[in-house]
Amino acid sequence: MIQDAIEKLAGAIRDVPDFPKPGIIFKDITPLLGNPELFSLIGDVLADPFRDTQVDKVVGIDARGFIFATQVAERLNAGFVPIRKKGKLPFKTKARSYALEYGQDDMEIHVDAVEPGQKVLIIDDLLATGGTASAAKKLVEEVGGEVVGVSFLIELAFLEGRKLLGENAPIKAAIVY
Ligand code: AMP
Repeated sequence: MIQDAIEKLAGAIRDVPDFPKPGIIFKDITPLLGNPELFSLIGDVLADPFRDTQVDKVVGIDARGFIFATQVAERLNAGFVPIRKKGKLPFKTKARSYALEYGQDDMEIHVDAVEPGQKVLIIDDLLATGGTASAAKKLVEEVGGEVVGVSFLIELAFLEGRKLLGENAPIKAAIVY
């Protein structure tokens, strides 16, 4: 059932060569978003490994992570928390710099986004070098959350992002290249 869903999703991902820089093959998920059946399957697939885990908050990483994290939060009956690019969140924040497969950026979380000890699942569309997700994980821990999992639709395994993320919380990826 979930395996069928994963295959349908994988078949609809569009490879865009040399975006945003020469040498990067961008995994474009917009064809999945535009199809109502596939769109809903994304939430099912990302939430599935965590159905039996207590999750209080689902964190989505700016910007594609937001789309999926809201779906997962609804399915797991959890709250949604955005981690945003610097300067977008209005209240008091914690910030971190992180390196990307193709650049560098800063991200922020509201200091009160997670209550002390709350169980947090982090969601993003794609795991590449792991810089983004590991910065998100550190931010969640800095504001008092316990990361109980990290779930991606896509993993580029050859970039070994899992190494950076560490092994103290399960890391799940539905489609691995
Ligand atoms: P990283 O920090 O290297 O793991 O990069 C992950 C972030 O960059 C995710 O938020 C992705 O959306 C984006 N990203 C990195 N590489 C790609 C790629 N080849 N295709 C699509 N998105 C990517």
